[in-house]
Amino acid sequence: MKLHSLRLKLILRFALIVLAVIAVISISANLLIGHQFEQYVMNQQDLQARELADNLASQYDTQSGGWNLDYVHGMGMYALNEGYILKLYDADETVLWDAENHDMSLCAQIMDDIALRMQSQRPELDGDFTTRRFDLTRNGALIGYLDVGFYSPYYLNENAFQFLSSLNRILLAAGLVSLAGAILMGLLLAAYITKPIAKTVEITRLISEGDYRTRIREEPKARELAGLARAVNQMAENLERQEALRKRLTSDVAHELRTPLANVSSYMEMMIEGVWEPTPERLQSCYDELQRLSGLVSDLERLRQVENGNLSLKKREIDLLALARVAAGQFEGLAAQNGQTLTVEGEHTLCLADRDRIMQVITNLLSNAVSYTGQGGSIRVLVQDSPEAAVLRVQDNGPGIAAQDMPLIFERFYRADKSRSRKNGGAGIGLTIAKAIADAHGGEISVESAEGRGSCFTLKLPKE
Ligand code: ADP
Repeated sequence: MKLHSLRLKLILRFALIVLAVIAVISISANLLIGHQFEQYVMNQQDLQARELADNLASQYDTQSGGWNLDYVHGMGMYALNEGYILKLYDADETVLWDAENHDMSLCAQIMDDIALRMQSQRPELDGDFTTRRFDLTRNGALIGYLDVGFYSPYYLNENAFQFLSSLNRILLAAGLVSLAGAILMGLLLAAYITKPIAKTVEITRLISEGDYRTRIREEPKARELAGLARAVNQMAENLERQEALRKRLTSDVAHELRTPLANVSSYMEMMIEGVWEPTPERLQSCYDELQRLSGLVSDLERLRQVENGNLSLKKREIDLLALARVAAGQFEGLAAQNGQTLTVEGEHTLCLADRDRIMQVITNLLSNAVSYTGQGGSIRVLVQDSPEAAVLRVQDNGPGIAAQDMPLIFERFYRADKSRSRKNGGAGIGLTIAKAIADAHGGEISVESAEGRGSCFTLKLPKE
C-alpha cells in the first residue's frame, strides 16, 4: 500500500474540513437570506399595492365627485414601470383608467419582461400574473375600485437580482479566501508537526544503526512530541549504557579468568618441568586459584538463573529481624577479625517471602559491608516494620560510593573501584543478584551513599 506523507494528509484533511464548513455556511446563509428576502419582497409588494390604492383614493375630489385623471395617469405609468398594472373603476365599476388600454404594447412588453425574467431565474416558483382588487374609500364612502395586477407570488426587479447575486459572490469569495487560509494553516501545521517527527525518525534510524551516542538536541514544543523525543533519548542512553556494560563484561570476564589461569598454568609448568618441587603450599595456591575460578563460574551460573526470570520463589511468612540475625551471625567472625562492630537492631517484622533468597540478599549486602568497610569500621543492620513494607537497612561507615557509580553498582560485573574490589570482593555480581531477587518479590533495593561517609543499602519487601 502506498503511504502518503503526514504533511499531505494534514493539508488535505484541513482543506476538506474547511470546504465542508464553507459549504454548510454558504448553503444555510443562502437559504436563510434568500427566504428572508423573498418574505420581505412579498410584504413590500403587498404594501406598495395598498399604498397605490390609498394614493389614488386621495386624488378623488369629494366636492365635484370627479377624479384627477392626469395624476391617475402619471401614477399608473409609474406603477407600470414598477411592475404593477393598474385598472381604476368608479363606484359604478365604470373603467376610468386602464394601463392595458392606455398603452397596450408597453404593458405587454413589461409583463413579458417580468414573466420571462422570473421564469428563467426562478422557474421553481411557477409564477403568473394575478390581480387583486382594492376598495377605494374616502371619508368612509366607497368611491371606486382599483385592480392591481402583479406577478405572483413575488417579482424581483433587476436591482434585487443584483443584490442576491452579489451576496452569492461575497459568500464565494469568503469561501475561497478561507480555503486558501486553510491550506496555508495546513502547511504551517504540517511543518510544525512533521519536522520534529522527521528529526526523531532520523535519529532513531541512526540509533538502530548502532550510533548510540546520538541524541535529539532540540526538544519539540508540543507535549506529546517532547515525550517522544525524551523516550528516544532515554532509549539511546540505555542502549549506550548496555553497550558499554557488554564491552566491560567481556573484558571483565576475560580479565577475571586470565590471572588465575595464567598463575595455575605457570605453577604447573614449573612443577612439570621439575623447576619447582610440588610442595603442599604451591599445590594449595594452585587450588586457591582454581577455587576463585569455580567461584566465578558459580556466580555466573547464579546470575544466569536470576536474570533468566525463572526464579521460582517458595514464599512463606518470615521474620526479617530473625533472618538478619542469622545472616549477621555468619559474619561475626570476619567482622571481629577486621576489628569491626556488627549490630542488628529493630522490630520483629513479618512478610511473605522466599527465606533462602532473602537470606542471600542480606548475605550479599553484609558481605559487601564487611569487605569494603575498613579496619575498625561499624556495620549496622536495622529492621523496620510499616503497613506497606518490611524494610531492612545495612548501614556502614566505609568508603562510600561515588555519585557517578551509584546508578551502576546494581549492573552485573560493575565494580566501582576495580583494583580494590578485585582484591576484596567478588566479580561485581552480588548486588545484581540481590536486585533481581528483590524485584522478583515485587520489592526494591536502593542505596544512599556519599564518598568517604559510608553507605546505606535499603531492601523493601511488600507486605501482602
Ligand atoms: P562485588 O562482587 O564487587 O562486591 P557487588 O555487585 O556486590 O560486587 O557490588 C558492586 C560494587 O558496588 C562493588 O564493587 C563496590 O564498588 C560497590 N559497593 C557495594 N557495596 C559497597 C559498600 N558497602 N561500600 C562501598 N562500596 C560498595
